[in-house]
Amino acid sequence: MRTCNILSIAGSDPSGGAGVQADLKTFSALGGYGMAVVTALTAQSTAGVAGVQEVPSEFVSSQLDTLLNDARVDAVKIGMLADTGVIRAVVKALDTHELPHVVLDPVMVAKSGDRLLSPDAIEAVRADLVPRADLITPNLPEAAELLGEEERHDLSAMREQAGRLVELGATRVLLKGGHLSGQSSTDLLVSPDGVSETFSAERIATRNTHGTGCTLSSAIAALRPQRRGFSEAVREAKDYLTEALRHADELDAGRGKGPVHH
Ligand code: PLP
Repeated sequence: MRTCNILSIAGSDPSGGAGVQADLKTFSALGGYGMAVVTALTAQSTAGVAGVQEVPSEFVSSQLDTLLNDARVDAVKIGMLADTGVIRAVVKALDTHELPHVVLDPVMVAKSGDRLLSPDAIEAVRADLVPRADLITPNLPEAAELLGEEERHDLSAMREQAGRLVELGATRVLLKGGHLSGQSSTDLLVSPDGVSETFSAERIATRNTHGTGCTLSSAIAALRPQRRGFSEAVREAKDYLTEALRHADELDAGRGKGPVHH
């Protein structure tokens, strides 16, 4: 069987827990061939983000066009975008190359509290990228930012918010409930036909959760072309993330909050 090419468009995390490093490990673990266009460099460890250096937007375009004029891509994961220039470059590539199965993780702030998207770029994500994605995977703070609302932490509020994200132009929404309290972590998938499904997984007790969002969105991108639809891909991606969290404490990658184990 032909191996699927999965493209990550995201930032670099030298600690290997998040960003393109996590995406490429996830693609490989799930049977894909990983490709990566870097949008920003971070100086980062398990202790946090010490600095961000955006890649100039023309060079993001150059990376994308050079790759996409040559390679077939079967699914795309978009992560950290840093600023509006980078977003414009990605929008241009999506319009030019008609890429399938685009999964957008609207990364805004790292778990360490450091910003990964400039505040003035949120509008460009909302207006220009959300409608171009086949699936968006916000957590509750990101959903609130995209909707310009207060954060709310219950399942019925999640259903309302997912509906409003669809009204914003999102084709499909996986609203991640990891910030809810409880024994399990529940995510809500709303599809274009309005059908919603919930996906629950055991909440793993570990402080080492760096890169969970990157891992889930890249697992969905890796699995989607190998499965019948997003629902199946999300179910298996969530199982993959649960196992990565279950083994996180086996790693010794720094003294702070460590990564999940791919
Ligand atoms: N660094 C980069 C380059 C990322 O893309 C991301 C996540 O999306 C992070 C850091 C943040 O990871 P976390 O919030 O899981 O610590």
